[in-house]
Amino acid sequence: MISIRNLHKSFGDLEVLKGIDLEIERGKVIVMIGPSGSGKTTFLRCLNLLEIPSEGVIQIDNKMMDFSNKKLDKKSIIAFRSLTGMVFQNYNLFPHKTALENVMEGPVTVQKIPKQKAREKAEELLAKVGLADKVDFYPHQLSGGQQQRVGIARAMGIEPEVMLFDEPTSALDPELVGDVLKVMKNLANEGMTMVVVTHEMRFAQEVADEVLFFDQGTIVERGTPEAIFTNPREERTKRFLDRLS
Ligand code: ADP
Repeated sequence: MISIRNLHKSFGDLEVLKGIDLEIERGKVIVMIGPSGSGKTTFLRCLNLLEIPSEGVIQIDNKMMDFSNKKLDKKSIIAFRSLTGMVFQNYNLFPHKTALENVMEGPVTVQKIPKQKAREKAEELLAKVGLADKVDFYPHQLSGGQQQRVGIARAMGIEPEVMLFDEPTSALDPELVGDVLKVMKNLANEGMTMVVVTHEMRFAQEVADEVLFFDQGTIVERGTPEAIFTNPREERTKRFLDRLS
């Protein structure tokens, strides 16, 4: 369903992604782990076209972006971006919009869905993440965990083919992490395709179909959670996991 071929990204002289090849099947949950600075966030941002890759191809369903073609127009970038829903570490909510307005924004402005319909859908999504009673609250009136659940509902609002999570719980107080992981687990159980960067190894163990170990801009090793966590093949993976325990 998703095919990534020879994906490169450089910032000036710094080559952050060094030719990533990856196929992701529909409905699978992929968890990416690896040291800080290894390029995990950049990889997600490339999938969402918040960063434009320097080279390579990304295909989602039958839609393809080839980055060797330098003349990507804004319209096709926006269309391609709406295939993916991004959940950020720091929520990235609009501070002057309510939870409901945050979730409505994408469907109304990007998808041009009539406001009333978008409102109903946003209410449904907020109920689904356990925030039916918070629809009219502003971000500053919500806990971090609640804000992040709004973030998830917002990303879902555009009905993406795949959800991308960039360390969604790492800014949260420990007691708020569980609620967010539960929402993510529910999404996974419903068959949502997900790519998740996280340090939550228990989540990876319980929910991931596949774990990718990322280091220095490449995928060093991939496998089932069991294989990666209990029997890693690569020295770099072993060292990384040893440091965590
Ligand atoms: P990770 O998510 O694995 O911690 P990142 O993708 O955030 O890694 O970062 C990988 C490398 O890319 C780091 O060295 C970081 O400083 C660099 N980098 C990320 N974004 C930019 C940017 N916009 N401009 C320049 N360098 C960047």
